[in-house]
Amino acid sequence: MFGLMSDCLFCKIAAKQLPAKLVHEDPDTVAFEDTNPQAPTHVLVVPRKHVATLNDLGPEDEAVIGRLHRVAAQLAKERGFAERGWRAVMNCNREAGQTVFHLHLHLLGGRTFAWPPG
Ligand code: AMP
Ligand code: ZN
Repeated sequence: MFGLMSDCLFCKIAAKQLPAKLVHEDPDTVAFEDTNPQAPTHVLVVPRKHVATLNDLGPEDEAVIGRLHRVAAQLAKERGFAERGWRAVMNCNREAGQTVFHLHLHLLGGRTFAWPPG
């Protein structure tokens, strides 16, 4: 399996070795509902390839990072809040609150968000 890390939660979800509520799949990314939603829409968009954090990106990963954002925007349009607004969040390492060490973009939408973030 492409990039599969056997002990990684999101690699297993992408490989359908663990259940998740999938909302999008393509050759390079999958998206699924967050199990602890922080907004009416809280979807995680992840690359199929295992990359632990933003610090670990290589030049070959630039395209898939763009893809994560395009998938998020497409889902925001489908769900009807693209024009109203939504948030894309990627937490990197401990002080930002990263708990799963497989890169993921949080798509948050359906309510108003505060700035600056807490
Ligand atoms: P982060 O804190 O940025 O690493 O985000 C990890 C996210 O993964 C959190 O929002 C969790 O609620 C979510 N999460 C953890 N386990 C699962 C799972 N099995 N399926 C879906 N989302 C999960
Ligand atoms: Zn992984």
